[in-house]
Amino acid sequence: MGAATERRRRTRTAVAAAIAIAASLSACDSALVPPFSGESAPPTAPPSSAPAAPGSEGAPPVVADRGPRVVPGPVALGGDRVAGLVPRLAAMRTDGFVVSARWTVPPGTTAFGEALTARVAAAVRGFADANGAGWTPGVDLVAGGASTPCSGGSAFAVTPTRLSIDCSIVVASGTVIGERLVIAEIGPDGAAQPAREVWYADGADGGVHDGAGLYAAGSEKRVLALVAEALRAAGRVDTGEDPFAGTAPEAARALLVDSAAGGAGVVVTLAVPGTERSRPTSVHMPWRLLEPFLSEPGATVRSAAVSGDPYEPPSAPGGDDPVDCTLLPCASLTFDDGPTSLTPSLLDVLDRERAAATFYVQGSSVARNPGTAARIVAAGHEIANHTWAHPNLTKLTDEQVRDEVRRTQDAIAAATGVRATSLRPPYGASNAKVRELVALPFVVWDIDTRDWQDPGVDVVVDRAAGGAAPGSIVLLHDTHQDTIDAVPSIIDRLRSRGFALVSVADQFGGALPGRGVLVSHGPR
Ligand SMILES: [Zn+2]
Repeated sequence: MGAATERRRRTRTAVAAAIAIAASLSACDSALVPPFSGESAPPTAPPSSAPAAPGSEGAPPVVADRGPRVVPGPVALGGDRVAGLVPRLAAMRTDGFVVSARWTVPPGTTAFGEALTARVAAAVRGFADANGAGWTPGVDLVAGGASTPCSGGSAFAVTPTRLSIDCSIVVASGTVIGERLVIAEIGPDGAAQPAREVWYADGADGGVHDGAGLYAAGSEKRVLALVAEALRAAGRVDTGEDPFAGTAPEAARALLVDSAAGGAGVVVTLAVPGTERSRPTSVHMPWRLLEPFLSEPGATVRSAAVSGDPYEPPSAPGGDDPVDCTLLPCASLTFDDGPTSLTPSLLDVLDRERAAATFYVQGSSVARNPGTAARIVAAGHEIANHTWAHPNLTKLTDEQVRDEVRRTQDAIAAATGVRATSLRPPYGASNAKVRELVALPFVVWDIDTRDWQDPGVDVVVDRAAGGAAPGSIVLLHDTHQDTIDAVPSIIDRLRSRGFALVSVADQFGGALPGRGVLVSHGPR
């Protein structure tokens, strides 16, 4: 066999192996297991009817409250079925590997969102580093992009080296949320056992804990005894055998990290000691049996899961979802020349879509519409200076330049209570002399939609969303109805490519480069 043929054969084998691994991962990953009624079901379902899920390991049909039992996997609500959550996607591709990481966070700044984002960031950055590349977020890599919450398309199953993180919501009820992450890594030597973990929090500031945190400290062995009982009943271990005998307390907690709370009880998924190389096993334990072993946060999760109440996400302005643009690929929509009578309906759209934007306002317009200017700031958007009367600054005297900027700063401060920290020169026109005169960074754009020529909604959408790259700053005007009409599709298209939408300042971590600097896009 020639070297080339041999190489092709080995590549085919590796690809086939990768596909097989990917297939087996999806087959056993919970997110794809359809919910069985009774657990996480709408209140109309009778609470005691939990039939065995399809293909449930040959176990007989069971009643929810009978006892611990082996099940195919935890029940997932699916992020798309929980209103009010914010999907996140971090993806990267090099010649050597791909990364696709999905998770979902509550709106605004929450301890839960910060903890999950930090968890994912550590995993993806660590993977990129270990494979010889710094983390660089990419777009156009994953089907569905950032508009698909949890269990969206995966990236490039045939690329041998990859990291895939997917999420599912196990409970979202009242102020309690529980989210499961499955972190699967496939290296050149094959797949490692995926890490599976569930994270919980109660409210925006509530403490964040993992699945093991459902149980009171010291009760882990009792919970594992329930698991062992289910394994014996299912014939997975011999009668009288306890696979967890001699498990140290720390190791016991680690075994219980993937504990998924539902309406009828908890499904813990773990690798039974001695069988680590095989598929993990899921065991359902009814709340009745777990009651004595729950921690205080565990009791809170139980009450929420049992109640079946709808989720009450923390309230936060639509433009206020925190985004780290070194982790996610960012783009900024910018709106010039307002505020106008069209701006309130634009703000409605941005609120509904939870998309942040930057408004370069004219001082004269702010003086006419101070309430709208105040609403821009209250909604979490960035407001910045676009001069008073829209002159070409390079054609003015020094005194006129200072006057245009100062009057607008004053009008913005009077209407909103905040000081603008950047300026967009009308027509993008500036020179070194003008930039030296104004004590602010100058922000222009790299994507010009020319929406002021009224080319029609579709053209504006194509120009805005089609040409954007990570770091892009898109020029639009909230003075044209077609632009307002285009914004929902622009947001959809950018998110489906994988972008997170942030203010210009947030592309720079909240602080733009210093005075006199000319900025046309974010860090790249
Ligand atoms: Zn303008």
